[in-house]
Amino acid sequence: MQLLEGKKAAIFGVANDRSIAWAISEALHGAGAELAFTYAGEVLEKRVRPLAEGIGAHIILPCDVTKDEDIEKVFATLKQEWGGLDILVHAIAFANKEDLSQAYVRTNREGFHLAMDVSAYSLVALARHAVPLMEGRNGSILTMTYMGSEKVIPNYNVMGVAKAALEASVRYLAYDLGPQGVRVNAISAGPIRTLAAAGISGFKDMLHHVSERAPLKRNIDAEEVGKTALFLCSDLGSAITGEVMHVDAGYNIMGM
Ligand code: NAD
Repeated sequence: MQLLEGKKAAIFGVANDRSIAWAISEALHGAGAELAFTYAGEVLEKRVRPLAEGIGAHIILPCDVTKDEDIEKVFATLKQEWGGLDILVHAIAFANKEDLSQAYVRTNREGFHLAMDVSAYSLVALARHAVPLMEGRNGSILTMTYMGSEKVIPNYNVMGVAKAALEASVRYLAYDLGPQGVRVNAISAGPIRTLAAAGISGFKDMLHHVSERAPLKRNIDAEEVGKTALFLCSDLGSAITGEVMHVDAGYNIMGM
């Protein structure tokens, strides 16, 4: 029997086949899970739909996480089609481009709110809707974060602050939802070339820096995040909750 046979997973955050959410999807699907996908806007639907259909998904829905009505529709459909949910993957983040290049001190109120809403609050909103569907199923919720929450990474700026809020949310949600058997964890991944990463100034330098200084002397790939996601979302991670797990070739342990 496969690790995730009979399990239902909702994936938020696929933009294309380079998305970390896609690598996670492939790992979960490879272990036998049935997947549902959401996409943010019509332009991305053209990329997400063929990928999703290619692995047999039939629930493929629009969802802008800043819109409560979109979130409600997704979970109403999941309830109607599946009657329950085992896994929720949140791999979503956004900040204005200028806020990822200028000094952090210049972040305006609107840019701050936007980054927090899309990148941190959305996990809380999705978790709240997912939990009733996870009743009695030992559900698992997983989000994606980055070390810019813990240490200063030049240009990561407001996104680092949003990731700090996201990681704190993981702990508070784990506490809230633990009594219902729902686990909540985050993967803190090293830098990977994706659409979102392209918005961060100096991203190439980050890759170079990591490959020189990380204990494993290399960068990571999305497939390695997928494998860790499978571990955390499956019974292999049954006693792990509230955790931020680094998948970064060891970069975060270095002082000098
Ligand atoms: P990506 O661009 O493929 O994925 C980001 C996703 O966020 C996209 O699918 C996009 O549609 C979605 N999104 C943005 N605004 C949204 C909104 N309002 N509503 C719904 N969806 C919205 O890039 P990625 O690198 O795969 O990012 C996935 C997650 O991984 C993000 O949380 C990112 O911060 C995190 N992460 C990325 C790296 C990296 O180096 N690429 C490292 C660590 C963590």
